[in-house]
Amino acid sequence: MNGKLIAECCDRAYAALVQHTDEIAALDQQIGDGDHIYNMLRGLEALRAMAPQIEAAEMGQALQLAGGKLLSTVGGSSGPLLASLLMGMARAAPREAGADGVAAMFAAGVDAMQRRGKTGTGSKTMMDVLIPVAERFRELAAAQAGVGEILAELPRVAERGMASTRDMLALKGRASFLGDRSRGHIDPGARSSHVIITAICALLAESRGGPERSHEEVS
Ligand code: ADP
Ligand code: MG
Repeated sequence: MNGKLIAECCDRAYAALVQHTDEIAALDQQIGDGDHIYNMLRGLEALRAMAPQIEAAEMGQALQLAGGKLLSTVGGSSGPLLASLLMGMARAAPREAGADGVAAMFAAGVDAMQRRGKTGTGSKTMMDVLIPVAERFRELAAAQAGVGEILAELPRVAERGMASTRDMLALKGRASFLGDRSRGHIDPGARSSHVIITAICALLAESRGGPERSHEEVS
């Protein structure tokens, strides 16, 4: 894994979010201020604009550059949170691209986000997707699951986490101001995280020769 792959991940994440713009905007209009998807797209556009720099860097440095860019271009809650994710991953970037190292890197990024956002699962946020994905990724890697299996399983874990936010009471962010009225709506950050994880797993599956589920679409 290197900067080139990070740039490809940004491209895929961007393309997937573009396809889900209206849906995620509508979710955020229910329980937030409607800007979440536009914050995400702005950040990814900024990363795409600096693709040559990201591509030329080693993975840790590429993630650090990308995190810094998100911090300076994306407002709202999601900018600083995603910057923490990438910078936390940057600090844990492995030398070797084995599943173990990548899982540990992702978990370190999610830990950094948790410290920044001061919440775990159960608050109706993107953490309800990212924490279970990070945990399952580490379990699968520790059990020496095949890469194809890991890339097929993680989007399902993300989907379950996303769906679990529907009935939760929001405890963090703007949605928490709604109290009980936040129930019954999927959290927009959880949905965008699910879309991105699904898109990146599909990219990684394709780039290793396209096993079974590599063309599965985000529903
Ligand atoms: P804002 O809430 O400032 O308008 P965005 O619209 O960019 O920010 O992002 C909203 C999303 O941020 C929410 O859907 C939720 O998933 C996530 N979020 C809000 N607060 C937190 C937090 N403390 N920790 C993790 N995620 C959070
Ligand atoms: Mg918002």
